[in-house]
Amino acid sequence: MSSDLVIVGGGILGLWAAKYAADAGLSVILVDYKLCGRGGSNGVLGALAPHLPDSNNEKKQFQWRALDELPALIGKLEVATGLVTGYGQTGRLMPIRVEGFANRMQRCVAGASEHWQMKQRQYRFEQVDVQGFEDWINPAMAPMGLAYDTLSARAAPRLLTAALKASLEGTVEIIEDFVYGQFLEEAGLVMSRCGTRSIKTDRVILAAGYETYGLVKELTRQDLGHGIKGHSALFRLPGVADLPALYDNGVYVVPHGDGTVAVGSNSQKDWHSADEVDEDQCSGFIERARELCPRLKNAQLLERWAGVRPRSFAKEPIVGALGDSERVHVLTGGFKISFGIAHRLAQALVERLTWAEQQISLPASYEVAYHLADARKDGRGVWGSNR
Ligand SMILES: Cc1cc2nc3c(=O)[nH]c(=O)nc-3n(C[C@H](O)[C@H](O)[C@H](O)COP(=O)(O)OP(=O)(O)OC[C@H]3O[C@@H](n4cnc5c(N)ncnc54)[C@H](O)[C@@H]3O)c2cc1C
Repeated sequence: MSSDLVIVGGGILGLWAAKYAADAGLSVILVDYKLCGRGGSNGVLGALAPHLPDSNNEKKQFQWRALDELPALIGKLEVATGLVTGYGQTGRLMPIRVEGFANRMQRCVAGASEHWQMKQRQYRFEQVDVQGFEDWINPAMAPMGLAYDTLSARAAPRLLTAALKASLEGTVEIIEDFVYGQFLEEAGLVMSRCGTRSIKTDRVILAAGYETYGLVKELTRQDLGHGIKGHSALFRLPGVADLPALYDNGVYVVPHGDGTVAVGSNSQKDWHSADEVDEDQCSGFIERARELCPRLKNAQLLERWAGVRPRSFAKEPIVGALGDSERVHVLTGGFKISFGIAHRLAQALVERLTWAEQQISLPASYEVAYHLADARKDGRGVWGSNR
């Protein structure tokens, strides 16, 4: 078995990378030890929410452009596969409760008119009255009105990964029972962890979610990140699909197109099982979501879900080559915003791999060198971690 490129991990990042690499003409094998899309990307929340436009920097710009690209990109994906992804650019409402936030919102209004004039559309950020949304958001939570933006969107994570996987049919070989162990660079061999299976290849992309950090540590002796567990929940609540998502102080309420509303989430640094649901961990954010959106009080709870997000210690995604040979590449660390930026991260990496004439430039803080320098500065080698 051989290919130009092996991608390890069939989550949202690995699937987009496989798509861009195959479109660029590379032969690609995608390996996962689970079914694709069943890791951290198998959640229910699907909020695609922009950084606030009260200031502008290369990281924010990267994300805003990524969100602006999605409607067209997902439209093409849906046409090509005949599958829906649950994508909708339905906006977001945030209650304004304190003076400081109200002032920040005013800076966002001004910032959006300057920075949100994008390739596809001009997006708005504005202050709106709670009247008109009283059925959707608790008016008592918004004494100073609401902030509303039109760049926020939603997608159904499971549908999106399924559509991406379907789009690879016939162009990418997918092996879903392969546990990646190591890449023997000189021999050009990807070895399974048990050592009994191998794939001949020139290059490897490690897109193994939070497990990428362990694989990188074996190669660099540096700790670049860890997995943060989280829970979300899904309710049946038909008739609200076109309403904006709600966000308040870490809690999201996201209406989806199939008559469900997702809420989330919590964060746990310490955890034992990646996908075991702990009901106690859900009660806090579900209660707060019900306070924010009283209609959820009578809605049927369909599912609680748990998964692990990849988070780099430098708090940014990691994209690029590890080492001078440029044969092992890393693609991970989207933490809470992966679904909105995964395609652009993957495209940027594939453009580098294929020495494309035009290349998306990545924020400096996404580069591997930045993360390695951050780890050295903090003394996060194999001899101990200070986090
Ligand atoms: C509760 C919760 C809510 C979230 N909400 C949102 C949200 O609203 N919006 C948003 O954008 N993001 C959200 N996220 C974050 C997002 O889901 C993740 O950041 C994203 O799914 C990570 O994608 P990934 O492709 O990097 O990793 P994963 O989806 O985890 O994929 C990695 C894959 O690699 C495979 N793998 C690992 N090691 C190996 C190996 N050695 N060999 C072979 N295969 C391997 C795994 O089986 C897995 O399938 C949320 C996450 C959680 C936990």
